[in-house]
Amino acid sequence: MVRDDAVAIHVAEQRAAGARPVSIELASGGELDADLAVLALGNLPPAAPPGADERVMASDRYEPDPWAEGIAERAAGDRSILLVGTGLTMVDVALSLAEACPDARLCAVSRSGLLPRRHGSQPLRPARTFGPIPLRPKLYDIVSRVEAEAEAEASKGGDWRAVIDSLRPVTNEIWTRLSEADRRTFVQRYARRWDIHRHRMAPEVAALLDRARADGQLVIEAARCVSMRPCEGGIEVELQPAGARGPETRRFDRVVNCTGPTLHLKAAGEPLLDDLFARGLARPGPLGMGLDHDPLGALVGADGRVSSHLFTIGPLRKGRLWETTAIPEIRQQAAELAAMLSGEIGRFSAPPPRALAS
Ligand SMILES: Cc1cc2nc3c(=O)[nH]c(=O)nc-3n(C[C@H](O)[C@H](O)[C@H](O)COP(=O)(O)OP(=O)(O)OC[C@H]3O[C@@H](n4cnc5c(N)ncnc54)[C@H](O)[C@@H]3O)c2cc1C
Repeated sequence: MVRDDAVAIHVAEQRAAGARPVSIELASGGELDADLAVLALGNLPPAAPPGADERVMASDRYEPDPWAEGIAERAAGDRSILLVGTGLTMVDVALSLAEACPDARLCAVSRSGLLPRRHGSQPLRPARTFGPIPLRPKLYDIVSRVEAEAEAEASKGGDWRAVIDSLRPVTNEIWTRLSEADRRTFVQRYARRWDIHRHRMAPEVAALLDRARADGQLVIEAARCVSMRPCEGGIEVELQPAGARGPETRRFDRVVNCTGPTLHLKAAGEPLLDDLFARGLARPGPLGMGLDHDPLGALVGADGRVSSHLFTIGPLRKGRLWETTAIPEIRQQAAELAAMLSGEIGRFSAPPPRALAS
């Protein structure tokens, strides 16, 4: 194992005898040669929240990466902390800050103000199946079906979670069969609702969150960030609460960006991805999310050709796939890719790039 950052990948169109076709440039200045490369970069830090300009980004009172080390130490002594986002990332950050900074008042905002639902206390048995998916499903039909099944389940004393969980094995099948317009509508109108039901809190975590809210240490609000600017010892934030006439300005000692991993990789500022985009070796996936790739994870370049040497697994597959961030799905992708590559690696002498079938 080499501990370094990959900052560029070069793929030789024609290689000299004995030379390997892929060369990975490292931040330290070194280079690694390989027959192929798999990008498994995981989740990228969140995009800047709306209204955060360069002065905010440069402020030591703004935390751009909720998973960075040392936030709790830097927040020691803070009395008011704004968490932008109300999903699972916020839950993690709020609970660590509630413990590390007991005197701080935490305020978490998102446009919906919706929190992730909680897992039931009992395991769901027997597991349900969702039933056949039409070849060309319509988003509204799927949504109506899920709502009807959840209501029917609840009316007979069952658990709506069983219906949501029954979709997991077929989520990507539905996603890939939906029209592009329906996928866009899903992202714009339903993704948040889906996420809070699909990605739930453990009951113990939910209980800790309830306690922090009951103690007044954590407040959840439906509000949109309009603008932010650094001020003496903190950040002034203009918030537009849902349903209120106009925005209100509040001051916080610290702002933590908890909006979740960015899906739009072109703007992520990740040097390796920037290099791949700049040289046409990668292009964004559908709806601008993740990296475009074929069904086996081979990258699709700017010219639409499928790479024989560059692959990806995990969260970077978002766009072509919807369910691609949790360990079980990544494990399956890794197994499939390994099986394919171990069967094909001998053919890497110079296979021509394939055109992507639509
Ligand atoms: C808040 C939160 C909660 C989650 N909870 C769950 C859960 O309960 N269950 C679940 O299954 N999943 C969960 N996930 C998702 C899951 O943790 C991740 O999607 C998964 O770990 C991704 O695995 P990976 O191997 O693709 O990437 P990672 O585990 O993120 O590993 C990526 C690696 O790539 C390295 N890297 C990145 N860029 C470069 C570069 N340019 N050069 C060299 N190295 C680089 C990184 O340093 C890192 O070592 C959660 C995610 C989040 C954000």
